[in-house]
Amino acid sequence: MEKHCLNCNQKLDDDMLVCPNCGKKVYENTDNLNESEVLKNKEEQLSAYDNKNKINKFALIGFILSLIEPVYMIANVLLSLYLNVFLPLFSIISTILSVTQSVGFIFSVVGLVQCIRRKQRGKVFAIIGILLPVCILIFYFIGFIFLAKFIQALGSMG
Ligand SMILES: [Zn+2]
Repeated sequence: MEKHCLNCNQKLDDDMLVCPNCGKKVYENTDNLNESEVLKNKEEQLSAYDNKNKINKFALIGFILSLIEPVYMIANVLLSLYLNVFLPLFSIISTILSVTQSVGFIFSVVGLVQCIRRKQRGKVFAIIGILLPVCILIFYFIGFIFLAKFIQALGSMG
């Protein structure tokens, strides 16, 4: 009887232990398994294969959201330096940017947990998505302290 890969239906030689097409382990004694068991195995293998090769959506979305504010800020600095163009920075835009940062952070945390639990790809995206908002927050905090010191110094001078 011809042997076929349960995962991708590639025709297999009898002595093959691993499918040359998709890399899945070849089940032995498939004749002994009943049809529903074979089907169940196939579905499990497929979903496991899918899961492993998918980039976690939360990690990816979190990464993109966390990237929006720094990209906007860097673009703003570059445009003002080289083209003397200033991107708008009204309160509505900075509000939107802080929302994207917060949501990006939360998505990245969820993404990282899912990546670890489901052994999915996207850990690096998730970690960057977590670190970016944290770094920006620290950056703003330091800036705020400097500004406060500066104002204090001005006050004591005058
Ligand atoms: Zn296969």
